[in-house]
Amino acid sequence: MPFPMVQELLGQLFKKPNTNPFPAAQLPPTITGLLEQVGRGEATLNPSVPVPAKLRGKMTYNRETCIGCNLCIRVCPAHAIEALPATKKVRIFVSQCIQCGQCTEICPKQCLALSEQFLNASHDRYDTSLVVED
Ligand code: SF4
Ligand code: SF4
Repeated sequence: MPFPMVQELLGQLFKKPNTNPFPAAQLPPTITGLLEQVGRGEATLNPSVPVPAKLRGKMTYNRETCIGCNLCIRVCPAHAIEALPATKKVRIFVSQCIQCGQCTEICPKQCLALSEQFLNASHDRYDTSLVVED
């Protein structure tokens, strides 16, 4: 075996794992069980890794400043934004959004933004956490 490879192998023996033990150091039997334990103060969550600058995560929407111009709907390539004509506001379906940022650039009132929130998994695409209305 070439010497650099032996050196690398020996080095690996003394390195800590690069994986981030998130959300807990030991894999819990169920995530919901873990979250219930956290709620009761019986367990704590390990912080996630720091997100990179300008990460494109879950959409945020400022309903108050929205003027209902629907420009965001016209530019959205994923058809992830729905007009609410009765209120002249919009609704964003996070499960459909591809985080392209087009709507954030076109919005004349800057009421749309891509946040750093990236933990958006759900079994239900219409889960209230994945439908942004305010
Ligand atoms: S970021 Fe892109 S895909 Fe997501 S809602 Fe805005 S325009 Fe649509
Ligand atoms: S572009 Fe902005 S102001 Fe216009 S409807 Fe969309 S969110 Fe509202």
